[in-house]
Amino acid sequence: MGRIEKIIVATGNQDKMREIREILAGFDIPILSMKEADLVTEVEETGETFEENALIKARAVWQKSGNLVISDDSGLEIDALNKEPGIHSSRYLGEKTSYHIKNQILVDRLEGVPKEQRTARFVCAAAIIFPDGSEKTVRGVMEGQIGYGEAGSNGFGYDPIFILPKYGQTTAELPPEIKNQESHRGQALRAVRDEIEAYRNRQDS
Ligand code: IMP
Repeated sequence: MGRIEKIIVATGNQDKMREIREILAGFDIPILSMKEADLVTEVEETGETFEENALIKARAVWQKSGNLVISDDSGLEIDALNKEPGIHSSRYLGEKTSYHIKNQILVDRLEGVPKEQRTARFVCAAAIIFPDGSEKTVRGVMEGQIGYGEAGSNGFGYDPIFILPKYGQTTAELPPEIKNQESHRGQALRAVRDEIEAYRNRQDS
């Protein structure tokens, strides 16, 4: 009862799915996207926090699958813009607007803001729902600064304007392995991996 057979990731975002696979690589349980598991579910993200939204998405898919479901809800908080776009990061300026335009508008909104006040962070909350229905959320945060224009073509979304001070480069300039090592999603998913391992150990004991 309650054994993990597979991990279903409650996301339709291919870029996130690619990073999740990279970060959870080496896990001995099959990892399937909602599409691969034939469980595509549209849900409205009505929560007020990253954690609430991650749970809303995971619960909707868990109700159909009943096995182990993980989801993440993430976004960019820019301090000088009152933490915008925050939980609305993917909807900011409309889902269909290109990130090239979104990034340029964010940079324009920061015109005149000095370097030390351009602080920002990527946040990722991941939710896990286990086969026995128990739930857990974990969070990862990567602190950085908003640049003065786009740089780099790796990653996705707001990566070309997000500078990681330690490297002096945007997360779109860094190789994927470095981004995953440092990133909000990397941190949250390594915590997910630990939680899944702890659940399996409890099952085996
Ligand atoms: P979600 O699908 O509601 O979690 O939306 C997350 C949104 O936040 C993405 O569509 C991006 O706009 C932004 N975002 C989250 N993580 C990253 C990242 O690692 N790089 C760039 N943008 C990100």
